[in-house]
Amino acid sequence: ASRYESVPQPPGDAIFGIVKEFRASTHPSKVNLSIGAYRDDQGQPWVLPVVKKAELQLVQSPSYDHEYLGMEGYAPFVQAASLLVLGKDSKAIKEGRVAAVQTVSGTGAIRLAYEFYKNYRKDAPILLPRPTWPNHPQIAVEAGIKTLEYRYYDAKTKGLDLAGMLEDIKAAPPRSIILLHACAHNPTGVDPTPEQWKQIAEACLSRDLDVFFDIAYQGFASGDLGRDAWAVRHFEERGFELFVAQSFSKNFGLYGERTGALTCVVGSKETAAKVTAQLGRLTRALVSNCPSHGAKIAAVVLNDPALYAEWEDNLQTMSKRIQTMRDQVFDILTKELKTPGDWTHIKNQIGMFSYTGLTKAQCTALRKDRAVFLLDSGRISVAGLNEGNVRYFAESLDWAVR
Ligand code: PLP
Repeated sequence: ASRYESVPQPPGDAIFGIVKEFRASTHPSKVNLSIGAYRDDQGQPWVLPVVKKAELQLVQSPSYDHEYLGMEGYAPFVQAASLLVLGKDSKAIKEGRVAAVQTVSGTGAIRLAYEFYKNYRKDAPILLPRPTWPNHPQIAVEAGIKTLEYRYYDAKTKGLDLAGMLEDIKAAPPRSIILLHACAHNPTGVDPTPEQWKQIAEACLSRDLDVFFDIAYQGFASGDLGRDAWAVRHFEERGFELFVAQSFSKNFGLYGERTGALTCVVGSKETAAKVTAQLGRLTRALVSNCPSHGAKIAAVVLNDPALYAEWEDNLQTMSKRIQTMRDQVFDILTKELKTPGDWTHIKNQIGMFSYTGLTKAQCTALRKDRAVFLLDSGRISVAGLNEGNVRYFAESLDWAVR
């Protein structure tokens, strides 16, 4: 007997459940398109060459150690992280109006931001896009924060529902918090254009919203670090105070090292110092200290111009390979197989994921009969495609929709 007998079994995680099915499958052509991690053209995890180089340099340095970093994290990393997202022309950086701490990757940054809001924006709800990364609402539940939704994806056009989004923002309770995916929206792969971002900023101003960006794919989405941070920088220029959760999982391939930062643009230097200290205090209570190894690797790269250039090159390798896979799926479907339907969204969506528009029944059939493991929502991780399986995938998709 156990006093915990009444603990209910939680529902299984949708993504990890499908990974399990994939592993168990004995199908010779099985394809795993469920997990959001980059794979190379052989379908293997890719340690970025620049990361390997920086890591060796780091561990061979006589001063390398495993000491605690302190509550606010590794300063050379945190400063470089803020600069990375806000850019060298950031007024907030020049004026010392940036509060920032290291976090336990992007997830930890989101949790920390929520904790801060809970303390200092008491009772303000957070608006999340529909759909969004399932962890956004999940973390809010655990942090005890109320969430609302705004329309984002239009299933008909497989693009952005801009009108719905603006309408929902303009109807939001004044001074609520809005979470925006800065680039490579997960799960849809649909991003606003700069023109649309301007309208979104305008709508947020009209309700005096607190803006919280989640940027988990900077440089990974387009291959261009500045382009992927455009929205964040635009909002800074428009005078918003901003919180930005930064993940270095995808763009450095440091998934398991839990490398991240929370960068905040605030109104004054004095406020920035207080916010940083509060974020440090909250970090102390949550995890005490962040993991050091990944942050130190990233700091080596971010603070060395030659390695930085090499990193940009590695980002190009990843984003180009994904774009090539999108183009190939599109070409095989439209030019060779003459698959019914419009497939331009596969090419136009950006980042790791594509919302294919397949129905749940089609997704189930793909898993069962073709061993193509995608989520019930129709989301595929394009990074799971490669020269060896892209044709099989396209043919399977064609099979599923006929
Ligand atoms: N935010 C989004 C939208 C994501 O897709 C992810 C990862 O999949 C994250 C945040 C954070 O990931 P991590 O905690 O591994 O940095």
